[in-house]
Amino acid sequence: MIQSQGYAAQQSTTPLAPFSFTRRDPKERDVVVEIEYCGVCHSDIHSTRNEWGNAIYPMVPGHEIIGRVTAIGSGVSRFKAGDRVGVGVIVDSCRTCASCRNNEEQYCEVGVTLTYGAYDRYGELTQGGYSNNIVVDEHFVHAISTKLDPAGVAPLLCAGITTYSPLRHWQVGPGKKVGVVGLGGLGHMGLKFAHSFGAHVVQFTTSESKIADAKRLGADEVVISKNADAMKKEANSFDFILDTVSAVHDLNAYLSLLKRDGVYCQVGLPDRPPVINMGNLLFKRRSLSGSIIGGMAETQQMLDYCADHNIVSDVEIIPIQRINEAFERVVKADVKYRFVIDMASLGKR
Ligand code: NAP
Ligand code: ZN
Ligand code: ZN
Repeated sequence: MIQSQGYAAQQSTTPLAPFSFTRRDPKERDVVVEIEYCGVCHSDIHSTRNEWGNAIYPMVPGHEIIGRVTAIGSGVSRFKAGDRVGVGVIVDSCRTCASCRNNEEQYCEVGVTLTYGAYDRYGELTQGGYSNNIVVDEHFVHAISTKLDPAGVAPLLCAGITTYSPLRHWQVGPGKKVGVVGLGGLGHMGLKFAHSFGAHVVQFTTSESKIADAKRLGADEVVISKNADAMKKEANSFDFILDTVSAVHDLNAYLSLLKRDGVYCQVGLPDRPPVINMGNLLFKRRSLSGSIIGGMAETQQMLDYCADHNIVSDVEIIPIQRINEAFERVVKADVKYRFVIDMASLGKR
């Protein structure tokens, strides 16, 4: 067994606190990673607080992991000790269903194994990246370019791929008018990608204090979503809108902004369902859809795209001792635009 140290939630109402546990010894295709940085995703908050109702404790969250390979199993071909690598939201899938064979492991028909809070194929409870090390099958490990700042790369493993994948799937690019709703961890990556792909991008935000940043990050226009008149001016004009908001909000105000045949894609996953006025869908044949992270091949493609185009997340680096305060600030939408834990702080006082 490998000894691990991390920060865990022991139940939904307790703050994260130091926690010691073990991980499996590397199997044939496993890579052992010493974690350098881990991003703080709003999903870590939903999960540790059991807002989705499926939490298993103790829970070490974290699925935006960057580190160095320290050991490999005998059958590992893609990595060697010393390589910089990344691990995201899933660490296993069946590998044989139609989705897995189509490089869409995130939609595995048997079910994926989440990086934390799930039982893996060995019957062990998975634990995430708010810790010093992790053991992962090489199929779910990504090569990371040393050209990019590793702290800024960490959020690409979830916030990055979750926004890149739907923007690619719905072919966002030149000539398309695209909206991004919410300027948080996912939102700021969606904005960077949509701008980089050449679309005309409109950022929707509830925070007036983020207007200048939105423009700096690539928005052609910024709309304060609380301003009903500003919203009405955008009616029937969008090809695609990506919604990254973490809390229940009024989707109808946004659905009416889509053109005929426009697509609204939900990536935010609030704990309660929205109310949809069906007229907003059927009178203009609009689609309401969703998307979850991306497959392993596409995640590597996204990481390589970021290395080629010099794209990273805008991060605020924190020691792990400040994680509970960081959670509170994320809930208040007070983060610019992703907290990333410097794992060297683990074990320090
Ligand atoms: P985040 O950093 O907290 O960003 C969410 C943003 O939504 C906030 O910054 C804020 O932006 C806006 N917002 C928050 N509360 C709001 C409210 N009550 N009404 C309107 N807007 C509000 O969160 P994140 O890490 O980006 O995650 C966003 C959501 O995506 C979470 O639900 C998370 O679980 C989910 N997620 C899904 C996937 C997937 O694969 N589909 C992957 C990762 C995360 P403004 O200040 O600009 O308004
Ligand atoms: Zn995430
Ligand atoms: Zn599968």
